[in-house]
Amino acid sequence: MKPSPEQGLGSGPISLFGNAEQKERFLPQVAAGKMLSAFALSEPEAGSDVAALSTSATQDGDNFVINGEKTWISNGGIADFYTVFARSEPTSGAKGISCFVVEADNPGLSVVERIDLIAPHPLAHLRFEDCRIPKSNLVGTRGKGFGHAMATLDVFRTTVGAAALGMARRALDETTTHVLNRKLFGGTLSDLQLVQGKLSDMALAVDASALLVYRSAWTKDCVAQRVTREAAMAKLHATESAQLVIDAAVQLHGGSGVTKGNIVESLYRDIRSLRIYEGASEVQQTIIARQVLNQTLS
Ligand SMILES: Cc1cc2nc3c(=O)[nH]c(=O)nc-3n(C[C@H](O)[C@H](O)[C@H](O)COP(=O)(O)OP(=O)(O)OC[C@H]3O[C@@H](n4cnc5c(N)ncnc54)[C@H](O)[C@@H]3O)c2cc1C
Repeated sequence: MKPSPEQGLGSGPISLFGNAEQKERFLPQVAAGKMLSAFALSEPEAGSDVAALSTSATQDGDNFVINGEKTWISNGGIADFYTVFARSEPTSGAKGISCFVVEADNPGLSVVERIDLIAPHPLAHLRFEDCRIPKSNLVGTRGKGFGHAMATLDVFRTTVGAAALGMARRALDETTTHVLNRKLFGGTLSDLQLVQGKLSDMALAVDASALLVYRSAWTKDCVAQRVTREAAMAKLHATESAQLVIDAAVQLHGGSGVTKGNIVESLYRDIRSLRIYEGASEVQQTIIARQVLNQTLS
């Protein structure tokens, strides 16, 4: 069994856009935890501005030949296969990008660096050098890879929000127990009104995040194919407010909150990257604003 939080993201383009053969080859193995997947979109010069990606996929007979670099790839170096986004047409911007599945042992694909973060997360920089794959490894429609990537992120941004929500809930639980037990000024920390105010803010932030995350997941399951607005709101609110909740938890734990090994100390490090990956918070803000403006204009 290969447990990984990134299983859905890496295999998402195949679930959503793959053909029957690709689904059969990869998805049961991923679901059983026998294969690890990874989603290779970001590049050193194309993170938030994903449409600037320059990795190329040039058709050569029955093959595509991939050249370029991908970085910050979760599961990089431990994945069994990568869904890779590369420019297959001589265009710029969002047009002309395609998605391919590349198996980890494919000649021409190498892991050039394992990236260490402030909190444990398998992350790597990949290089594609004349990496030749059969054209049957094209996932979805040629030239429509940007849309495939965005549709995949629409699904998984909700889960990033859910992860942040879980971290915030744990921080609130730990803090509630702590303030009820910590004795000071002849009572407990929980007796102090300023502390109660903090607890109230934390609980409110947690519940608001939960409602946004559940709405996005429910809308995707029951109402709409795309949940761009709902997922962006869920991710933005849940990750930003979890950061505030966890910071308050550290504060209310006093010295023990910044002591290595304390759960709120590790949550403090764990939460940080969720505000950056799958679209930084500012990117979510621009997505939400665009959705609101488009709704009014249409
Ligand atoms: C832990 C982790 C896991 C990751 N996993 C993956 C993965 O599996 N696959 C993958 O392809 N990528 C992955 N990434 C990459 C991630 O998606 C990018 O880091 C992210 O999109 C930001 O890109 P960047 O790092 O190049 O920052 P930049 O694009 O340089 O942006 C830097 C900062 O500028 C600000 N900014 C950006 N755009 C705007 C804007 N429009 N308006 C205002 N401010 C803005 C934001 O604060 C942003 O954080 C991962 C990153 C991390 C940290």
